[in-house]
Amino acid sequence: MLKIPNYVYGPKDTTIPLDVNFGQFILGRMWMYKDRIAQTNGATGESFTYKEIVQQSMKFAVSLTRLGVRKGETIALFSENRKEYWPAVIGTVCVGAICTTISSMYAEEEIKHVLHISKPKYLIVSPKMYEAHEATLKLIDSIETTILFGDDAKRPALYYFNDLVASVGSDIDVENFIAADVDVHDVLFILYSSGTTGMPKGVTLTHLNAIAVCCMPAILDPELSSLNIRGWHHISGLLAVSAAMAFGRRGLYLDNFELELFLKTIEKYKVAQVVVAPTVLVAMCKSDAKYDLSSLRFIYSSVAPLHKETISAAYKKLPNLKAVLQGYGSSETTLVIIRYTYKDADIVKSGSVGLVAPNCIVKVVDIKDQRPLGPNQEGEIYVKGPLLMKGYMGRARSDDFDDEGFYRTGDAGYYDEDGHFYICDRIKEFIKCHGYQVPPAEVEAVLLLHDAVREAGVIGLKDPDAGEIPLAFVSLQPGKEVTEEELKEFVAKRLSDPKHLRGGLRFVDSVPKNKNGKLDRNELRRMANSL
Ligand code: AMP
Repeated sequence: MLKIPNYVYGPKDTTIPLDVNFGQFILGRMWMYKDRIAQTNGATGESFTYKEIVQQSMKFAVSLTRLGVRKGETIALFSENRKEYWPAVIGTVCVGAICTTISSMYAEEEIKHVLHISKPKYLIVSPKMYEAHEATLKLIDSIETTILFGDDAKRPALYYFNDLVASVGSDIDVENFIAADVDVHDVLFILYSSGTTGMPKGVTLTHLNAIAVCCMPAILDPELSSLNIRGWHHISGLLAVSAAMAFGRRGLYLDNFELELFLKTIEKYKVAQVVVAPTVLVAMCKSDAKYDLSSLRFIYSSVAPLHKETISAAYKKLPNLKAVLQGYGSSETTLVIIRYTYKDADIVKSGSVGLVAPNCIVKVVDIKDQRPLGPNQEGEIYVKGPLLMKGYMGRARSDDFDDEGFYRTGDAGYYDEDGHFYICDRIKEFIKCHGYQVPPAEVEAVLLLHDAVREAGVIGLKDPDAGEIPLAFVSLQPGKEVTEEELKEFVAKRLSDPKHLRGGLRFVDSVPKNKNGKLDRNELRRMANSL
């Protein structure tokens, strides 16, 4: 078969096994590094080895089977980053169950929304999340069994992760452990993303997707330590850390991001590589705090646009920096599908998000007629390959994929003559605040819960520190009154921090609509600019 002109192909040098459960696969890879430290909490210094993860994962899988967990059932994992996280994920996957990871930043409405999508039968939860959200979690009808992390005083009706693991007894011989038989196209993760439009949806990722990420060449140097501050529930934690662990890298993490602590951790552990959102890099470059950051060799930035000025500022601040690497992808593409790796340090073009990943194909299409465009022409980015999600739960694939199986990303960009890609704009509607998705429809839906609100429209305002911040336009029900502060508070109680109305709230007589009666966000943007 001939390559199609104007399609950009990744190298064909990666073999992906097609007959194994992801859990079995990752256990096998981790076991190769069993005596190494896998992860260290930068704040507390608590570390755990690959051997500990492997043993606990297998034991947890055995105890889940004893609890009656069956292949295809869904287990929700709701926790900040902590040491039981990986055994909980891998144990779940090993029994052939589906793991859905819930952001520890989520507030009431978000928790209800996503758990109503995935309908988990089991919930694994940290004490911190349980304390904060017990009432909300009890509203989720599908949950029959709750398993708690930690060693807190025992509560009736709850299972304890540590007890379940301990109940299996002495260590298991890895050779004697067999994960549930699955088809590689079976779903193993459900993550949440609004895609190009609307409310957050359930992104279904398969065993094949997860194995493919871990078989790709390592993005960062496996021999150097790296600090990844993303939440492990998000694709940039869940699969980035899995892939790093498949190569035996020593990882550092934080259970909560705070700039001082981040810088202190780099100094204390002589961290060589960091995985950050662009806003963290901005904050790091602007910081006057006197920490020794000379150990840093590589910075990996993804999840949102990184400006060239920030890249230059990083080189000025960090004397031994070899490269600022970027990657572009999403939950739907199982991490980054266009990216540089540390081996590309000498060919990185500043501002580019990198090259097409192995076994993947990317085309840039004309927005009007979907014709594939040649180099240096801007259009919508369409992507295809083993990293592509199965689809959104409850939605036809044809809504999001074209006839050739390419996923329409909703991002605009171009590639140059050498196949290096550049992201120019977001055509889709979500806002990115500090690298977190803020679906306007979700904030609008919460505003509409208030009985004084008749209509609501939300857009993103550019912000130097956060990237974008949400701004709302609201019209009121006749005869009703409410203040801006009251509505901001109303949203803040129900949604997580990036979705709070930091861009403000404007009262209007009516929210603009287009000919079809749909909210006109372009007009809202014009209104915001003319304020
Ligand atoms: P998420 O699924 O939350 O990771 O969001 C994915 C979206 O983040 C993409 O569709 C892009 O809009 C944006 N994004 C990811 N990586 C980059 C990048 N390197 N540069 C610009 N935008 C990015």
